Amino acid sequence: MLAAMRNIVILTGAGISAESGIPTFRASDGLWENHRIEDVATPQAFRRNPALVQRFYDARRAFLGQVEPNAAHLALARLEAEWPGDFLLVTQNVDDLHDRAGHTHLLHMHGELNSALCTRCGAARPWRGPLLGDPACPACRQAGGLRPDIVWFGEIPYHMERIETAIAACDLFVSIGTSGAVYPAAGFVSQARHAGARTLELNLEPSAGTPLFDEAKHGPASVLVPAWVEAMLASR
Ligand code: NAD
Repeated sequence: MLAAMRNIVILTGAGISAESGIPTFRASDGLWENHRIEDVATPQAFRRNPALVQRFYDARRAFLGQVEPNAAHLALARLEAEWPGDFLLVTQNVDDLHDRAGHTHLLHMHGELNSALCTRCGAARPWRGPLLGDPACPACRQAGGLRPDIVWFGEIPYHMERIETAIAACDLFVSIGTSGAVYPAAGFVSQARHAGARTLELNLEPSAGTPLFDEAKHGPASVLVPAWVEAMLASR
């Protein structure tokens, strides 16, 4: 069965970065790093209290310096490098761990911590330091317009056309470390099935979307993903 797979689309979520030390979103207390999601991850929250939101994402951006890609990130980068067919990795994660693992066919559908978006000129530019304090936009030079280049709730994810085109042409769709709770990403498995692809979930535990997959394996990503990649590469 694996040998018949040529084009692969992989979707990742917060669970793949959990073992690197980045907390996932939906903890049982409903808080995300001590904040309600509505207070830090919506355009309304940013209008209401921009300093709080900037401080929150500045801290997460700075924290990237303390974490490293884990065995799951590295295994996916190996798969991309060695896979003979088409490969696309779509991540909901705003961290840079997939980038640092060495991917080239990678789309960040929910934006990136290491990017700043100018609300005045619309430019998105690489950004490493804090955004608090109204630094000037590197593109238009105006101060006071930069925000985290993160797709907040209520905003439209990036790269949707490219993602949907790839899903329509894939033979295998794999979802890794995502709760299947946030659309449109949660709908990709149904789109892939509709296109005739096999679908596989790799997650710590059964997710909301598990019944939609042809196959599901449960356990830590650092164990499941390298083993699955090994099997895929052995099947070539
Ligand atoms: P999630 O926290 O909802 O789910 C994480 C999943 O990973 C869970 O199903 C969990 O069981 C699993 N998991 C945990 N540890 C794991 C491990 N070691 N190995 C394998 N799986 C593990 O995260 P999500 O699904 O990525 O959330 C969807 C999206 O919601 C996020 O990517 C994010 O873009 C969005 N969100 C955005 C903001 C924002 O600031 N814009 C805020 C909150 C959520």
